[in-house]
Formats: sequence, C-alpha cells, structure tokens
Amino acid sequence: MAPGKVNLCFRVGPLREDGYHSVASLYAAVDQLETVQLELDPQRPAGSVGCELRVVAGSLVAQQEAAGAFDPTLVPLDERNLAVRAAQAVLAEAPDLPSGLMLRIAKAVPVAGGMGGGSADAAAALSAAAELIARETGHAIARERLLEIGAGLGADVPFAMTGGAAVGTGSGTELRAVPVRVRWHGVLVADTGALSTPEVFATLDRMRAEGAAPTVRESELEVPAGLLRALAEGESAVGGEALANDLQAPALQMLPELRRRLDELEELDARAMVSGSGPTIVALPRTSGHDDGAESSRVLAAQLRERGLCAVACTIG
Ligand code: ATP
Repeated sequence: MAPGKVNLCFRVGPLREDGYHSVASLYAAVDQLETVQLELDPQRPAGSVGCELRVVAGSLVAQQEAAGAFDPTLVPLDERNLAVRAAQAVLAEAPDLPSGLMLRIAKAVPVAGGMGGGSADAAAALSAAAELIARETGHAIARERLLEIGAGLGADVPFAMTGGAAVGTGSGTELRAVPVRVRWHGVLVADTGALSTPEVFATLDRMRAEGAAPTVRESELEVPAGLLRALAEGESAVGGEALANDLQAPALQMLPELRRRLDELEELDARAMVSGSGPTIVALPRTSGHDDGAESSRVLAAQLRERGLCAVACTIG
C-alpha cells in the first residue's frame, strides 16, 4: 500500500536548461491509500507483467465512479503503467521467476488529480515485487536500491515510498523528512476533469512570460518556516501559516470552474487550495478551539457531498 499526497506548499522556480523546474514543495501523505497486489501468474510467460484495475470502496475514486466521473481508460494497463514499470524494474534485478506476474491495482486516489496516484502505485509495486522475489527466490533487494529505482521512475515516487511529510527540493526528488507532531485534518475534493502535470507547468511558464503570473527566483524557493513549525509543534491547521501553490494559477486558467469551487469552500469557512498540479482541491476547515479539525472536516465533506461534489475527510501528514 502507498498513500496519495497533497502539497501544502508548492513553489516553482524558473524553467532550467535541463527542461525541469526547480521547486520547493511540502509533500504530505493523505489517508487515501493505493493498494497493489502482485502474484505469480502461471498463464503468463516469465518476465511479463499483466495488470488489472479496481476501485477501493469508500474512496474518493469510488465517489467519482458513482458520479460517473471515473474514467478507467485513463489508466494504461501495459508498460505505460508506472506500477508495471516498477515491477519490471525490480524483476530485472533478480534471478528469473518461473512465470510472469499479475499486478492488481486498487485505486483510491483520483487519476491525473495532482495527488500522485500513479507514483503511489509504483511505490507499492516496488515493495510488492521485492517481497515476492524474496519469497520465491530468497534474493533480497536493499531498500536503498528500491529508492533509487523509484527516483528513476518519477519525481513523486520516492515520497510515496516514505510517506509522512517531507520537503522536496531540486526537481522535487531531493527529500528531507519533516516531523509531524499531530496530523492535520482536511477534506479532499475531486474534480471530474483531469489535468496533465507537464501541461500545467507549461501554462505557468506561458503565464509568466506574459506577466500574468509572478516569477519566482531560485533564491526565493523555500517552504515557509512557520508552516514547518506548525506541523512540528502540533498546531492544528487553523493557524495563519502560508499555504501557497504556484501551480494553482495555471490550473485555474486551464479549468476555470475550479475558481468557483475554491470560493464556495471559502464561503463554507475553509482554507482551500489546489493540490499539486490539480485539479483535486485540499480544504482545511477553520475550526473553533475545541475541535482538532476532525469533526469539522467530516461535516464539511458531508456538506460538499450534499451539493453533488466528490469529497472525503482525510488526515494529512
Ligand atoms: P502527479 O504525480 O504528476 O501529480 P497525478 O497524480 O496528477 O500525477 P496520476 O494519476 O499519477 O496523476 O497519472 C497521470 C497519468 O499517468 C495518467 O493520466 C496516466 O496516463 C498515467 N499513468 C501511468 N500509470 C498510472 C497509474 N498506475 N495510475 C494512474 N495513472 C497512471
């Protein structure tokens, strides 16, 4: 199993010569968990990996499915699937197995939602493959090696392998774990649309070139100390910590109806922002002193569902 994530802060620097952006990001795991099962499949030739998909009951994706807003065809089941690639990469490190493998992914995290669902599948597949190989062949693969393989698969995979909360710098892959004293409570609101992460970055570059979004210099790339302190000292999410996401403006330009949803959440007394490249929104209710956010998050999620939105209460960190 591996968690989806939200970014409580996402600062994006200028486009670098290598085609990546330098970022400063505060990743936080949420309790929407992707599950991956891997087993030997005697019907399949050795070296091949089949893939099946289902939906986790009660999850955000289950709500999308019930609302007719989940499109399973967005998830490739061949080598383009990040979990299949992860399993194949681990297989290449070990003695041959007698047959191919079947990989079963249970989705809780919206597809192309800015919550790192594919990366979570890859993270879960890496450990499932290592366990299966150890069981079948006795060959152990070191965790450091699995982390290396994960980093090669995608920028969000190493975080999905560790969970908790972490500051990511460089292109997002250099991670420093952040202590979390008390998990925050919030609400995840899924959208019917999907956003492609590279397209959201490209839109940000275009907006910056046109002066429609502020530029951020390398030297300004940091996660506010107040935000890290609030997590480390166990403050609830109601404080005035600076939550910022430079990808929000381009995500709003690409899906303008997200603006209405953010405004609606403000009216319901929650701080809300787009998670990562969107379009999923993370909302933190402004709770009163006697509530740690759990109850208000449940109430907010229920209110949103009554309005026909896909929303779940979650813990963060
Ligand atoms: P990011 O990590 O960039 O925030 P995301 O959470 O927005 O990504 P994902 O759900 O990880 O988006 O998927 C983005 C695209 O990757 C999908 O549209 C799909 O084509 C492809 N993909 C490959 N493997 C998977 C997977 N296991 N689950 C979902 N999508 C996958």
